[in-house]
Amino acid sequence: MTTPSDVDESVATEADTDADVPGNSEDPNADRQYHLELTADDVADSVLLPGNPERIGTIVDLWDDATTVASHREYRTATGRYEGTPISATSTGIGGPSAAIAVEELARVGCETFIRVGSCGAIQPEVDVGDLVITSGAVRQEGTSEEYIETAYPAVASHEVVSALVAAAERLGYDYHVGLTMSADSFYAGQGRPGFDGYEAPGSDELVETLRNANVTNIEMEAATILTLASLYGLRAGAVCAVYANRQTGAFRTEGDSRAAETASLAVDLLARMDERKREAGVSVWHAGLDLD
Ligand code: URA
Repeated sequence: MTTPSDVDESVATEADTDADVPGNSEDPNADRQYHLELTADDVADSVLLPGNPERIGTIVDLWDDATTVASHREYRTATGRYEGTPISATSTGIGGPSAAIAVEELARVGCETFIRVGSCGAIQPEVDVGDLVITSGAVRQEGTSEEYIETAYPAVASHEVVSALVAAAERLGYDYHVGLTMSADSFYAGQGRPGFDGYEAPGSDELVETLRNANVTNIEMEAATILTLASLYGLRAGAVCAVYANRQTGAFRTEGDSRAAETASLAVDLLARMDERKREAGVSVWHAGLDLD
């Protein structure tokens, strides 16, 4: 396992062609990834994906142990154990473009399960600030996933990841909701907020109401990209977000980060146990007839 001091930024240039150093962004089999500066030895199979690099610290505080294995631009990665289960966390930065880079490079170093751990605005009146929203599927309002596949292709969460997140929230006793998420490319105009000096983007005044009528639960900026790429690549993904804003009541508080992080960490542990149960039962898909205890 490397440490941040092992990572030499001076070698991270486009001109590099050596597969052992960061820089060969064209080579999906490059040993160390160009942006994340990770190798297969640095990460666990399952990875949490917060947006903010500073959240890596609050996440690993919940784990048994952790080491920071890389830190470059918005991408910070730590690897450790939660309840004995190997786990990693990589920050994605804000929005689809940087989240897609994170998924691409984590998949290249062998990660197979991705759980976004973020924050969101809720648009249904019964969802309180500080609650958790577990995404069942996402409206692909961002642009990144469209560069991969037409928007008719769904952004759905893995049913196994949704089950594990719900079971984790239940075990921890946290208030949660399961529902549809809209992923936008902008925090302001794209989420129905006025721009600078009161600017109103066309359609922006009706956006939240239209989504509320369509039974969408929350708005954030990365889930659709992560879920779409995971489905395209046959990987497992899901998302759990702490509600910072209720767009109906106007409330805004930065609450619930550690509840989301703990729920996602426990979900990784439960997924490892679900995989074990599937092996014992000789099945490839988790179903309601299997139990954990
Ligand atoms: N993150 C978002 O993208 N929107 C919100 O309203 C809150 C957090």
